Amino acid sequence: MKIVALAGGIGGARFLRGLRAAAPEAEITVIGNTGDDISLFGLRVCPDLDTVMYTLGGGIDEEQGWGRAAETFTVKEELAAYGVGPGWFGLGDRDFATHIVRTQMLAAGYPLSAVTEALCDRWKPGVRLLPMTDDQVETHVVIEDDQGRRAVHFQEWWVRLRASVPALSIAAVGAEESKPAPGVVEAVDAADVVLFPPSNPVVSIGTILAVPGIRDAVAKKTIVGVSPIIGDAPVRGMADACLTAIGVETSARAVAELYGLGLLDGWLVDDADADVRVEGIEVRARPLLMSDPDATAAIARAALDLALELKREEDAQ
Ligand code: GDP
Ligand code: CA
Repeated sequence: MKIVALAGGIGGARFLRGLRAAAPEAEITVIGNTGDDISLFGLRVCPDLDTVMYTLGGGIDEEQGWGRAAETFTVKEELAAYGVGPGWFGLGDRDFATHIVRTQMLAAGYPLSAVTEALCDRWKPGVRLLPMTDDQVETHVVIEDDQGRRAVHFQEWWVRLRASVPALSIAAVGAEESKPAPGVVEAVDAADVVLFPPSNPVVSIGTILAVPGIRDAVAKKTIVGVSPIIGDAPVRGMADACLTAIGVETSARAVAELYGLGLLDGWLVDDADADVRVEGIEVRARPLLMSDPDATAAIARAALDLALELKREEDAQ
């Protein structure tokens, strides 16, 4: 069985770990969001790809959900002693090594997809991890504060400002001119089913779908998504601020409608949202809190089972 999943960071990575446990025989290709990528201290940092790689490779800081376990911050402290920032982005010593290797390979001319494959040689995530594109796409956010109206990098809004200033708009800069990374469309075409983990619908899944060619490729497939919203709130993080910025209500129903017909065939919502109905989409309710590995594997199994069931129905027609 071949599964393709689109993924952001924490929500995507945790779901994928459950999926790998729930379907150990499946060939899983992950299309990772690179819209959060940022250059810091001359290094290229890919937060979502790394979160997936570290989580599936056993190197993640479990508590935090991002960054390396047993991390230290000597380099960051030394940079700060030189007055070199930004201090608001938490890069640890172990994590720095990843970004150094990546930046060195990119400078030598390797595309991000090849770099990611090389990094995964070490981490052995048990899935094929592909960046959505080898081109530079960066999510920027227009905000207005005492410094006036301006566009900032997504990370500045999300990490430095903790999304406390309302986003007037969110744009994936460079997406329109980008191409899917090698293997992305091929993997989707070859997939039995496509899954949308409970990742941020705007700046994770939405950004991946903004790469021309990816949306059309997945639209041909049976797609089941898992709601990142439970009872009108994002379970963790500030995804509601992203939804508000694009004029979408923070609810499991509104996110399903955002993905829309023609994309989603099935939608898993939490038991708290059992009354949700979306025209043309098969909605099922079950516990969606990824509280531990077993609970997470059960969510992934339910998403996969629903996708296989809907695919059988489609194939029979
Ligand atoms: P990020 O890139 O680190 O922000 O991670 P993602 O985009 O992959 O996922 C973030 C989203 O995961 C958050 O907006 C939450 O709504 C969702 N999320 C986190 N934990 C859970 C959980 O236990 N259950 C569900 N259903 N969603 C979750
Ligand atoms: Ca992210």
